[in-house]
Amino acid sequence: MARVYNFSAGPAVLPEEVLQEAAEEMLDYRGCGMSVMEMSHRSKMFETIIQDAEADLRELMKIPDHYRVLFLQGGASQQFAMIPMNLMKNGVADYIITGQWAKKAYQEACLYGNAKAVASSADQTFSYIPDCSDLPIDADADYVYICENNTIYGTKYKTLPNTKGKILVSDVSSCFLSEPVDVTQYGLIYGGVQKNIGPAGVVIVIIREDLITEDVLPGTPTMLRYKTHADAGSLYNTPPAYGIYICGKVFQWLKKRGGLEAMKEYNEKKAAILYDYLDESRLFHGTVRKQDRSLMNVPFVTGDSDLDARFVKEAKEAGFENLKGHRTVGGMRASIYNAMPIEGVEKLVEFMKQFEAKNL
Ligand SMILES: *Cc1c(COP(=O)(O)O)cnc(C)c1O
Repeated sequence: MARVYNFSAGPAVLPEEVLQEAAEEMLDYRGCGMSVMEMSHRSKMFETIIQDAEADLRELMKIPDHYRVLFLQGGASQQFAMIPMNLMKNGVADYIITGQWAKKAYQEACLYGNAKAVASSADQTFSYIPDCSDLPIDADADYVYICENNTIYGTKYKTLPNTKGKILVSDVSSCFLSEPVDVTQYGLIYGGVQKNIGPAGVVIVIIREDLITEDVLPGTPTMLRYKTHADAGSLYNTPPAYGIYICGKVFQWLKKRGGLEAMKEYNEKKAAILYDYLDESRLFHGTVRKQDRSLMNVPFVTGDSDLDARFVKEAKEAGFENLKGHRTVGGMRASIYNAMPIEGVEKLVEFMKQFEAKNL
């Protein structure tokens, strides 16, 4: 068996221990004679799996009791519609556009009400986070929307926007559980788990209880109402059961590693290895304004697209997979999520140094 160092932006690397454990339990989950994939989602066995997963997530993120945790489907993209359908009571919402995912969310919200782009970093290819300390927040805005870590461009909010008292809604798909968060700063936090937690097919929504109401936009399908899923404990219909089980194992793995404070420390150390090298390299350089750099997604370029392509190819041959940048940006991107071991980044930097020596 030869595992590569997988720098994919998502679906992405998972902890090897988690995959091992899932393999061991594949045919016979804890003596019940079947796989979790074959189990009724109404069984006692599965009830324990989903309840333990939620309890562990609550412990990791210190989620207060007046927030609900929902395990949903439809990808992060489904939330682009579900959020306005459920939260746009006045029909107004303010969006901060820091990349493609924020833009898509904004465009979707425009279908349902008066969505306003109150700030954007499109003028410099989304390479920075705009100043959000004094934005023209609409007095009627039902919420302010951000994409907290921009997977494609490699930027991250280091301070949350001043929402002037409005509810903050945040897409944390690519920074979920990468560091501690103060849940009380948000009305709703959500993310697709396939970036930094588990397999594709699960979306986790953490929502303040008072925002879950029957007062939704007319025509909102039953399946797209938060209340439907909150009332049924995420078991209104068949949930993505196997994915939830793997997420639960990742939560356990994070707890064993010391929780989110420890992850933050590890992630900072890991990212610094790559950023420090990018800052001193004469061949490679980062594309993001320094103070806005993400700990999770690190884009970089040589400035020569042919050389970039050769780097990606040679890196792949050396066992470093998925380093090609997003198709809209070009260059390279190393996604170094929680499950990427520090050795992976050390070895990548070694390889980059050799490549630099040969190509300067
Ligand atoms: C990948 C990603 C999405 C889209 O996720 P899907 O689950 O494919 O819909 C949305 N937001 C961010 C920040 C992402 O990284």
